[in-house]
Amino acid sequence: MRAVVYQGPHEVTVEQVEDPRIEHPDDVVVQITTTAICGSDLHMYEGRTLAEPGIVFGHENMGTVVEAGTGVRGIRVGDRVSMPFNVACGFCRNCREQKTGFCLTVNPGFAGGAYGYVAMGPYRGGQAEYLRVPFADFNCLKLPPGTEHENDYAMLADIFPTGYHGVAMTGLRPGERITVMGGGPVGLMAAYSAVLMGAAEVFLVDRVPDRLRLAESIGATPIDLSAGDPVAQILDRTDGVGTDHGVDAVGYQATGAGGAEQPASVLNSLVEVVRATGAIGVVGLYLANDPGAPDEHSGKGELLFKVGKLFEKGLRMGTGQANVKTYNEYLRNLIMAGRATPSFVVSKELPLDAAPDAYQRFDRREAGYSKVVLKPAA
Ligand code: NAD
Ligand code: ZN
Repeated sequence: MRAVVYQGPHEVTVEQVEDPRIEHPDDVVVQITTTAICGSDLHMYEGRTLAEPGIVFGHENMGTVVEAGTGVRGIRVGDRVSMPFNVACGFCRNCREQKTGFCLTVNPGFAGGAYGYVAMGPYRGGQAEYLRVPFADFNCLKLPPGTEHENDYAMLADIFPTGYHGVAMTGLRPGERITVMGGGPVGLMAAYSAVLMGAAEVFLVDRVPDRLRLAESIGATPIDLSAGDPVAQILDRTDGVGTDHGVDAVGYQATGAGGAEQPASVLNSLVEVVRATGAIGVVGLYLANDPGAPDEHSGKGELLFKVGKLFEKGLRMGTGQANVKTYNEYLRNLIMAGRATPSFVVSKELPLDAAPDAYQRFDRREAGYSKVVLKPAA
């Protein structure tokens, strides 16, 4: 089959690789209909996190089951399914507590498992024609048959639940206000989730005009970083009160790409703008391993961060990989009912062969490439 293969920093190719097969009775093989490129792929693409040449990328996958192991009970050949990016067993202590992003069986030493990440288990990615899905009864979410809402459902593997998780960690209640830092696909999904949850006002901070426009289109208030300090802009619009909560959907940004002028500036802005006793949900990744990073970045995700202010204001903070399975079924139901259309973030649909070019353009933040979905079966 054909797959998107990592060759080294800033280079992926589309190559012929061995077909996946059932390796365990709990596995299924899925023919991928849609697989998305994610900001998280860039951490490997740019050479910051561990990635061995030869691995297949892709953790935002959906498709049709074409083969099922003898132990699989709830999923059948022909089912249309979405796979959470977290690979999880369903029976370890963390999975039993719904913390599927931290499965102890698939990856005891680290933060859970994922497709297409060397550091997160031996699972090949789904930017390919086919994907092996382990513990399939647990790791497949059934979707309605057919092709309706394909790009909406494609957002269920990662960014819709991740954005939702960022807000859920704050405990936002209807009528509250929230600041979302970062208007990439994850930040936009966080803002969208906050709107769905009944936030009275959602501020979304970024500097990319396309992204600010999308934020406005879903009912958020865009705050343009290039117009000055976002904290001052938001305080200005809230009579100096700030917002009840905040989400960091930026994380580590390579200097020059999104522009990491102050590595800790995003978290520090949130500590300033969130009112005392509010909460901050961090979904942006700080797992940096960039040998060229400035000292403050340290290459280990260490930051100069205003912990004193965090304490003084009694702020709470939630972090970590989204436990996709906690949310994906409910978010699927909203899509089925026509009450959520997260595909508004999708900016381009391309065949698998276009992946190398799409990665380059996405990495350069080119307009039109903010959320690319690949169609391997097209
Ligand atoms: P992205 O790079 O497309 O989006 C980041 C956005 O932040 C960009 O639009 C950029 O212009 C903006 N930005 C840069 N500096 C900023 C600043 N100082 N203030 C405000 N905005 C700023 O990435 P994405 O795909 O949206 O993902 C965002 C983060 O979420 C990444 O770190 C990604 O790895 C992470 N992520 C986490 C999970 C999880 O489970 N926790 C899942 C998926 C992605
Ligand atoms: Zn992703």
